[in-house]
Amino acid sequence: MANLVVVGAGYGGVMAGKRFERSLVPFTIINKHSYHQFITWLHEAAGGRRPVDEYKVELTDVFRKHTTTIVNDEVKSIDLKNKHVVGRNRPYPYDFVIIGVGSAPEFFGIPGLEKYSLQVRSLETARHIRTRIDEQVRAYRNDHDARRLRFVIGGAGLTGIEFVGELVEWLPKLCSSLNIDPSGLEIINIEAAPTILPALSTSLQEEALRVLKESGARMMTNTKIVKVEENAVHLESGEVIEAMTIVWTGGVRAHPLLAESGFTCDRRGRAQVNEYLQSADDDHVFIVGDCAAFVQAGRPLPPTAQVATQMGDLAARNVMAQLNNQPLVSFSPKLRGTLASLGHRVGVGTIGNMQTRGTVAGFAKEMTKVKYLYELGGMRMVSREGAHLSREPLYQ
Ligand SMILES: Cc1cc2nc3c(=O)[nH]c(=O)nc-3n(C[C@H](O)[C@H](O)[C@H](O)COP(=O)(O)OP(=O)(O)OC[C@H]3O[C@@H](n4cnc5c(N)ncnc54)[C@H](O)[C@@H]3O)c2cc1C
Repeated sequence: MANLVVVGAGYGGVMAGKRFERSLVPFTIINKHSYHQFITWLHEAAGGRRPVDEYKVELTDVFRKHTTTIVNDEVKSIDLKNKHVVGRNRPYPYDFVIIGVGSAPEFFGIPGLEKYSLQVRSLETARHIRTRIDEQVRAYRNDHDARRLRFVIGGAGLTGIEFVGELVEWLPKLCSSLNIDPSGLEIINIEAAPTILPALSTSLQEEALRVLKESGARMMTNTKIVKVEENAVHLESGEVIEAMTIVWTGGVRAHPLLAESGFTCDRRGRAQVNEYLQSADDDHVFIVGDCAAFVQAGRPLPPTAQVATQMGDLAARNVMAQLNNQPLVSFSPKLRGTLASLGHRVGVGTIGNMQTRGTVAGFAKEMTKVKYLYELGGMRMVSREGAHLSREPLYQ
C-alpha cells in the first residue's frame, strides 16, 4: 500500500485529509500542534471577542476514521532524494506527500519591524497580543502613560482591517470596565498603499473606512513605515508614533521550509506547482495553500483560506488518481467572494459578484464559519463549535 503523508493541518492540509478519509484511503497527517487552528478568525481571538482556546479544534475530532494516523511533530525539511519528510522526532517515508505548511510574516526589510512588532498568525500569537493589550490598559491605571492606550496596526488588508474592527469594539469596553476614560484611546491603522482592502471595490473600501473612522480609528493610507523601534513607529514623513503595542499585518511570504528544502520558489518563497498542484521539482510532491505558487493570468493566486481548502481537496484527489493511473484534474479555483468583518455585527464584501455591506455582510461573514465547520466535520462540528463561535462577544 502506498505511503501517503500530509504535512500541515491548516486549511489546505485538513481538506486533503478529509478527502482521503471520505475515500477510506489510509494516510498520515503531521502537524506541529495537536489541533487545527481557525486562523481566519484569529483577529477575533486577538481582539478579545471570545476566549483564545475556542479558536481551535483537536485533530482527533476532525479525523475520526481508523485509516488515519495523526502525528504531532515539527517538520524540519523534505528530503526529495530519499522521499522522506524529516521531522524533529523522526523521518517519515512517503510515496506521495502533500505539503501545506502555510506562511510566515513578510517584513519587507523594514528595520526593527520583526523585532518590535507582534503578528496575528497563530493561537499563541493571538493570545500574546490579547494579553499585551490587557496588560497595557491595566498598567495605564497606575502611570497614565498615554503610549499604553495607543495601538498601532500596520497593514490594511483583510487581517489588519478585521483586527481594527475588533479593537474599536473591545477597547472602549475594556477601558470602561477598568474605570478608565476611553477618550484617551488611539487605534491607528497605517497602510503604505493608497487604499485599504485592495480586493474590494472603491465603494466598499470607502464604506469600511467610514465605519472604522466613525468608531474612533485613525486610518492612515499612503503612509510608509520606515523604521520601528521599541515602542515607536517611524513614518516616511518624519512623524514618530509612540505606542506600547505595535501589530504588523502587512504581508506574508511562504513558510521557509520549501526554499530550505531546495524547492524552486518565487520571490515570496512559494514553491512552483503545475496545473495539477504537483511540485515543479517532483511529481510525487503536491503543494497547497499559502506555500504554493499557482499562477493564474500571469500572477500567483493570493494567499487565502478559500484557495487553500480547494487546493487541499484537489491535491488529494490527484494523488489518488495518480496512484490509480487515472488522468489528473487541473486546479480551477472557484472564488466565491471576499468578506471583511468590521466588528462582530457589520462588515463589507462580496458574495459572488454581489456587493454587500452592514449587518447583511456581518451575517454573511458569520455564515462562512458555519459553512467551514460543516466541511470540517458535518453537523456534529457545526453544532459543537458553531454554538460558541457565533455567540455574542464575551470580552472577559
Ligand atoms: C486574521 C486573519 C484573517 C484571515 N481571514 C481570511 C478570510 O476571511 N478569508 C480567507 O480566505 N483567508 C483569510 N486569511 C488567510 C488564511 O488564513 C490563509 O490563507 C490560510 O490559513 C492558508 O492555509 P494553509 O493551509 O496554506 O496554511 P495554514 O492554515 O497556515 O496551516 C499551516 C499548518 O501547518 C502547520 N505547520 C507549519 N509549519 C509546520 C512544520 N514545520 N511542521 C509541521 N506542521 C507545520 C501549522 O501549525 C498549520 O497547522 C486570514 C488570515 C489571518 C491571519
